[in-house]
Amino acid sequence: MPELPEVEIVRQSLDKKIRQKKVKKVILRNKNLRIKLTNNFKKFLENKIINKVSRFSKYLIIFLPSNKFCLIHLGMSGTIHVIYDKKKNYLTNQSFYNSPSLPTKHNHVEIIFDNFRIVYNDPRRFGFFQMIKTTKELKKRFAHLGPEPFQSKFNLEYVLNYLKRKEKKIKSFLLDQAFVSGIGNIYASEILFLSKINPNKKAYLLNKKDCKKIISFSIKVLIDAIKKGGSSIKDFKNTSGKKGGFQKNFKVYERNGLNCKRFKCKGIIQKKTICNRATFFCNTCQK
Ligand SMILES: [Zn+2]
Repeated sequence: MPELPEVEIVRQSLDKKIRQKKVKKVILRNKNLRIKLTNNFKKFLENKIINKVSRFSKYLIIFLPSNKFCLIHLGMSGTIHVIYDKKKNYLTNQSFYNSPSLPTKHNHVEIIFDNFRIVYNDPRRFGFFQMIKTTKELKKRFAHLGPEPFQSKFNLEYVLNYLKRKEKKIKSFLLDQAFVSGIGNIYASEILFLSKINPNKKAYLLNKKDCKKIISFSIKVLIDAIKKGGSSIKDFKNTSGKKGGFQKNFKVYERNGLNCKRFKCKGIIQKKTICNRATFFCNTCQK
């Protein structure tokens, strides 16, 4: 599943390609995505100039004229391909997961520009496009989501307040999108390792120092992942067919049974299911 760092990578490359470009035509080959597409969607995009491509959490936000927006969510398996008319199109995928070139099946939506087109591919069809018609509606759309670690709202006061008197394990809060947006399962284990906090620890037991570490390592882990090209899925490969950069740098994720990487720690990495998600941690240095 694409996580925030992967979506950010898609955003960066998409923004470079379609900013200030005019949509000539939209072709809907399969309208049955998670939100059913309608012919209004074609009208919504056609002949519009893209102002920019932004992002919140795992949502891409395409800014259109007159305060209108098109959201794109990649769901479980969505990828975006850019196909140029007069180029050999091998490396079309704008992200680093799934096929580097355009698959033959499951190309549901095409957005056509002057000399290239964008193709949305999604075998499992959990992704979606959504029309947003006002800035107010856009705000409302994200009202249920907590801040991203990068936002100033995700500060010590907020984290301490949120976690106080909470009995649930800290790991579950890092995955709770109402508390913080965009930390996926892999990243949650990595953040807790760097913070030296046991994922089973009850949230209310975290002190100020712990919360400060969670804030700064959340930012660090996500920024590192963005820099290294994302990582989230198991068969993650970049376009040259090599495993992704960030994956080699996991401190705990999928390292169960191996020695802890922390200097002078003699611990062994454990695997445990917390909130139905595989969780990895060192039983010695994470307290
Ligand atoms: Zn350790």
